[in-house]
Amino acid sequence: MKEKIAFRDAQKECIDGQALRKYQLERLKETVGHALRTPFYQHRLNKVGIRSSDDIRSLKDLERIPFTTKDDLRESYPRGLLATDMKKVVRVHTSSGTTGIPTVIYHTQEDLDNWTELVVRSIVACGVTSDDVFQNMMTYGMFTGGLGLHYGAERLGALVIPSGSGNTKRQLQLMKDFRTTVVHATPSYMFHFSSKIGELGFTVEELNLKKAFLGAEPYSENTRKKIEEFFKIDVYNSYGLSEMNGPGVAFECIYKTGMHLWEDAYILEMIDPETKKNLGDDTQGELVLTTLCRQATPLLRYRTRDLTTVVKGNCPCGRTHRRISRIAGRTDDMLIISGVNVFPSQIEQVIMKIPEVGNNYQIYLAKEGALDKLTVKVELYSKLFSGDLQDLERLKRKIQDELRASIVITPMVELHEPGSLPEFELKAKRVVDERIKI
Ligand SMILES: [Zn+2]
Repeated sequence: MKEKIAFRDAQKECIDGQALRKYQLERLKETVGHALRTPFYQHRLNKVGIRSSDDIRSLKDLERIPFTTKDDLRESYPRGLLATDMKKVVRVHTSSGTTGIPTVIYHTQEDLDNWTELVVRSIVACGVTSDDVFQNMMTYGMFTGGLGLHYGAERLGALVIPSGSGNTKRQLQLMKDFRTTVVHATPSYMFHFSSKIGELGFTVEELNLKKAFLGAEPYSENTRKKIEEFFKIDVYNSYGLSEMNGPGVAFECIYKTGMHLWEDAYILEMIDPETKKNLGDDTQGELVLTTLCRQATPLLRYRTRDLTTVVKGNCPCGRTHRRISRIAGRTDDMLIISGVNVFPSQIEQVIMKIPEVGNNYQIYLAKEGALDKLTVKVELYSKLFSGDLQDLERLKRKIQDELRASIVITPMVELHEPGSLPEFELKAKRVVDERIKI
């Protein structure tokens, strides 16, 4: 019998679709076997007639398995989804939710090694080498953005600066002194950075920055362009969520045509969030993921709530793992304004295209009588801020018209002076909803 493909070699081995599917099936059976050790999945899977891994005969059998949701994870707190002996667990990550009950993901050493390999593969895809100096400006600790990228960059052999988030001046000093070439941050932090760099006595030219991995919150193509132009760097989109380890689930390669989702580590499905029916490629839907290389906390058909599209066709880089487009929003981010569905990302897409608009904006919702009132507050780009009232009125109307064309609602537009809206160092809070919920 052929020896099982080691995870490390899988990317190479799974070059054609058939080999990938065979590998996925083998791994899925193993994952279902692990999952059946948890009280949660034992109950769920037995109900649909799956009692052992042998009940999974083809990838089609995946559809028999019910979805797992974030609420399931919360209800299983703290150990209901632990599939291995606690002695084998070497790390735990939790993510806090709005309800206060966190979701818990346990990792064995092998789980962590596999995660690290995924991160190595991801950053290699965008051209990082052992010669790079990597400054990780994501929060360390329970948030997986810190440790996840950290271990991957170290394994690759890059010089890692574990600066964590915050303290912009110190970040800049480190960047300058150690000739940092690659950073990892949220898009909001990069914007914050760009507004502070001059004030703190630094210039982009004296830094040695070449690349940034940006993730942890959705952002538009125009935001990417703005950051690339300001810092004169390449920005790569990164996707991950703590339930699926953290960063390293999907990553852009140098061609920036969508993020390769590592299909030897995750089974990718796309569903209609309402009907829960599977969707084909090229249709926007909710991403559903099944872990294939995790022992301590296997998750089957996990509903990520992230909306994306599978990109059709082959990537020029030659990688065969399918690509997903940038995250358009989360199913639970969707705003219903006067009966119309609007994603904050649609608003961002429009306003970031307008050159006079700076880096910061806020979406404000309130009630006016029975009606919903949408106000979009935008900060102006300092270099174009003239204060001429006629110009400002014209700009306001332009923003209003472009927003109406995209979201079908006519919002109020408020223009703000540069630096006057609240700034965020980690994840930005762009939406303020003051409507009374009935
Ligand atoms: Zn590619």
